[in-house]
Amino acid sequence: MRQGLNVAEAREWIEGATPVLSAERVGASEALGRVLFEPVVSTRRIPPADCSAMDGYAVRRADLAGAGPDDPVELRVAYEVAAGGRALQALARGEVARIFTGAPLPEAADAVVKQEDTREVGGGVRFLCQPEPREHVRDAGEDIDVGDVVLDPGCVIRPSEIGVLASLGRSLVAVHRRARVAILSGGDELVEVDGDVSGGRIVSSNSYTLFAQCRAIGADPIYLGISRDRPESVEQQFRAALHADCIVSSAGVSVGDHDHVRSVLEKLGCRLEFWGVNMKPGYPLAFGRFEAGDSAGGLCGALVFGLPGNPVSASVTFEQFVRPTLLRMMGHTRCFRPTLQVRVGETLRKKAGRLHFVRITLEEQDGEWVAHATGSQSSGVMRSLTQADGLLVFPLEATELAEGARATVQILDDGFFAAERAGF
Ligand code: AMP
Ligand code: MG
Repeated sequence: MRQGLNVAEAREWIEGATPVLSAERVGASEALGRVLFEPVVSTRRIPPADCSAMDGYAVRRADLAGAGPDDPVELRVAYEVAAGGRALQALARGEVARIFTGAPLPEAADAVVKQEDTREVGGGVRFLCQPEPREHVRDAGEDIDVGDVVLDPGCVIRPSEIGVLASLGRSLVAVHRRARVAILSGGDELVEVDGDVSGGRIVSSNSYTLFAQCRAIGADPIYLGISRDRPESVEQQFRAALHADCIVSSAGVSVGDHDHVRSVLEKLGCRLEFWGVNMKPGYPLAFGRFEAGDSAGGLCGALVFGLPGNPVSASVTFEQFVRPTLLRMMGHTRCFRPTLQVRVGETLRKKAGRLHFVRITLEEQDGEWVAHATGSQSSGVMRSLTQADGLLVFPLEATELAEGARATVQILDDGFFAAERAGF
């Protein structure tokens, strides 16, 4: 097992071990945010026939030669076609058809004149202009034709994709499976959210944070509760993680006397790939995997992340390593948070040898983003994570980022670019 990897090495190692999950069919209307597994090829034309884009009159253009506001041409209305209806017959010379938006164009008609460019009179209609060829006509198949590859595999399904699927008559769609993620916590000091915190106990907040971090990306977390600081208890909990695609445990992975996660994983036949990443918060991170078909415990091919116990470390290591892994498993290709180039608001210092993720807020100043640390950077201070817009990357070997220096910030808040005003 390797120890003390740099962040990028750890990321590459994990990427190399990450499988892409197979497909399942789901109701298209439930597929929001999922990743398409196979191409969607149309067996329909949309629109199905030439049809009107306006309320007005279907005409033969030749009948309206020379028509103008001062020189209207009067024609007879032969019949009416509404959306969902059909033209009774082909349009004869000198005839027009009353037509509504979405209604099929009568045979022999070659344009639509919108209602506003006409005047109703006695038994006919006066036209104040001659339309351009095919004006206000939507051509059959103009949007989608038979055989068109409308959606490519790998596309993330948004509301517009759901609308297109519906137009094509697809009530079911093949998407990558959601990753099933077993969430495990361990420690004798931990209780559930409504538990008794007397005697210095604390709530297992990691369970809740990590569960929500899975949910936020459309993964399927399964909460397996809290194990106690005994090998049997830890083992029992890992065995309960049986059919997960990914096991995320927090705490007990360090070097303390009560840290049993690594030894239990080894006992269960998990191949530990590495332990320790040169980062802060979050050094004591373990990554391993069970071979597919592994008999011990029946864990089949699951990836295992043993995250540190400190709440900020757990959340930040999830962000850096688990989140992109789960997204990749679920078929996504854009698996990383967006980054911004910023200026450092006040000088930051650290020792060389670990990459620091500094919790920061951002403010815009003269067209540039300026980052300010959110107070205590202790790995137990969750509150400074709730205040953060993102994490500033303080590189491994750097010891100082002077005020005004350039730095990269990873934006954590999905809503960071959302605005209070339209802006245009
Ligand atoms: P450990 O890795 O077990 O040494 O835990 C490191 C620190 O994280 C300790 O202060 C634990 O109390 C804390 N911790 C461990 N697990 C959790 C959890 N699930 N929720 C909140 N804090 C935790
Ligand atoms: Mg512990």
